[in-house]
Amino acid sequence: YSQRYMDILEKRKTLPVWQQKYEFLQVLKNNQTLILVGETGSGKTTQIPQFVVEAVELENHPGKSRKNKMMVACTQPRRVAAMSVSRRVAEEMDVTIGEEVGYSIRFEDCTSAKTVLKYLTDGMLLREAMTDPLLENYKVIILDEAHERTLETDVLFGLLKQVLKNRPDLKLVVMSATLEAEKFQAYFSGAPLIKVPGRLHPVEIFYTKDPERDYLEAAIRTVVQIHECEGPGDILVFLTGEEEIEDACRKITREIGNLQGEQVGPVKVVPLYSTLPPVMQQKIFDAAPPPLTEGGPPGRKIVVSSNIAETSLTIDGIVYVIDPGFAKQKVYNPRERVESLLVSPISRASALQRSGRAGRTQPGKCFRLYTEGSFNNDLQPQTYPEILRSNLANTVLTLKKLGINDLVHFDVMDPPAPETLMRALEELNYLGALDDEGNLTKLGEIMAEFPLDPQMSKMLVVSPSFNCSNEILSIAAMLSAPNCFVRPREAQKDADEAKARFSHIDGDHLTLLNVYHAYKQNNEDPSWCSDNFLNARALKSADNVRKQLMRIMTRFNLKLCSTKFNSRDYYINIRKAMLSGYFMQVAHLERTGHYLTVKDNQEVHLHPSNCLDYKPEWVFYNEYMLTSSNFIRTVTDVREWLVDIAPHYYDLENFPECEAKRVLERLYRAREG
Ligand code: ADP
Ligand code: MG
Repeated sequence: YSQRYMDILEKRKTLPVWQQKYEFLQVLKNNQTLILVGETGSGKTTQIPQFVVEAVELENHPGKSRKNKMMVACTQPRRVAAMSVSRRVAEEMDVTIGEEVGYSIRFEDCTSAKTVLKYLTDGMLLREAMTDPLLENYKVIILDEAHERTLETDVLFGLLKQVLKNRPDLKLVVMSATLEAEKFQAYFSGAPLIKVPGRLHPVEIFYTKDPERDYLEAAIRTVVQIHECEGPGDILVFLTGEEEIEDACRKITREIGNLQGEQVGPVKVVPLYSTLPPVMQQKIFDAAPPPLTEGGPPGRKIVVSSNIAETSLTIDGIVYVIDPGFAKQKVYNPRERVESLLVSPISRASALQRSGRAGRTQPGKCFRLYTEGSFNNDLQPQTYPEILRSNLANTVLTLKKLGINDLVHFDVMDPPAPETLMRALEELNYLGALDDEGNLTKLGEIMAEFPLDPQMSKMLVVSPSFNCSNEILSIAAMLSAPNCFVRPREAQKDADEAKARFSHIDGDHLTLLNVYHAYKQNNEDPSWCSDNFLNARALKSADNVRKQLMRIMTRFNLKLCSTKFNSRDYYINIRKAMLSGYFMQVAHLERTGHYLTVKDNQEVHLHPSNCLDYKPEWVFYNEYMLTSSNFIRTVTDVREWLVDIAPHYYDLENFPECEAKRVLERLYRAREG
């Protein structure tokens, strides 16, 4: 073994889980299911799977063929965590990533025939169950970060409970950071619990006297104050999303740059969020910069992170945590049929986790940018499980595909409201994925094969009948990749001009198609991308997604075709195919000049990023942003094609009274007459 391997091994052995390695392996040997609870940073995610692999390898006789050689899976709710942790573990095991240790996330499979330990998102394991219902590729499945209670993890719980009955040789390890252990234990019929004792140092908590009006500004101010006045130690700031994080990093760098040179040490400011490229993510593990002069003020690392750093990724050396008390969270209201990501207050459990990040290596301090009264009275004790705040259409489709028809009796830890289930069944019925009895249709079977929302799968599956599957593939890929438009603060005007050159007057989806075509015509050239304010990485990822979606299309004999480009039907066919999937997300321009969502009568506004230079009477949208004024983002004009594309959905009998209804009535009459 290399010296580096030995060095890392020494460090690994100091992690708390190593104290219980033997106990863990004993309990694993004697039980089918076990629950392991331990403080964040105790080594659960990186070490336990390696212990399991060691134990399993002993049983995998070398002569066995690949088919019988079974793997260890470790699920992660976040793509970033799956990638980052598997890389780390490959390094710890002194192997190349993708060989013995790999990861699998949506649209990216980094595993091989050699792989024995696979980190994968919970969503990917769920998809694997579609083709491998008993999960026969695996000998041990580890559901990690169970406390996060993501929708997919909760569904996996229910599914694995069934699979375990049919596979006595399969083992399940549930790993969690916080204290819902009893709930997990009860759910898994009294499975044994191993507690890894934490060794957290005390963390002093500070609250603000009065509520902060602007948490971003307050967070930046606090960073600067800590850097000026507090002893050595790195800082972790929790913010809510990419834009905000990048903005904060710039401001922190600038403000600290303005401080008196010799009086403060140098800083390294690093962002962390899910869409950050892996090389950049790795920077959170870099050491703080050394002091400028010997004996001068110490250097500091300042990590500005989304929720990922709460429990998913552990950063060593953090002594100061700044917690503004917000996170981007999924919310769903079945009555309004709107699912959206919303910046909302975190729970007390989250706040405790966040402050814990300060006390891993020495006593720390946590600055909560809200009042103590607010902590005690306003914050929810726990974060609601995602299953209670999601649109379940996709989940229901997956479950049906897995052969689970009796959804009401499917055993989940926190059953969703009946209304939410009804909505999901209804939506899938309108899309034609389920028949009136709730059984999966031929169309639904194929839709479930796509790792996409049902609306998007639907538009792909019907696109050949509109003679535009090539174009719909490109649009679906662009919508699934990160945003391709770059709009730097210092060059917004130039960026907007560049974007305008790709604009299609009838809508954002067609603009995305133009961008994709131009990208291909320019040979995927990264410098062409940056000249045009386009994110080359996002476009490359879209291209890769497109290839994978195309493979699924071909597998199901869905024809790849295009309408002649100079035909006037070219864009019309594309828009009709899209509407076939998105007819439930349509807004109508009222005479008042406002858009109302059809059927729900919610007032919405076109997001300023739209490229339309007129206000179409009917638009469909991809995203509904629940903010102070509700925006719809990524919109395209769909004229009045609703009456042709979705007559079943727009059946006017049960339609709320509104202008859109009267217009539709007129259209229906015209169609019949
Ligand atoms: P847990 O899952 O219990 O929260 P982890 O296994 O994620 O704990 O972390 C164990 C240790 O490994 C932590 O000290 C963490 O900082 C370290 N670690 C994880 N990933 C990396 C990495 N990519 N580079 C360096 N250290 C890492
Ligand atoms: Mg972990």
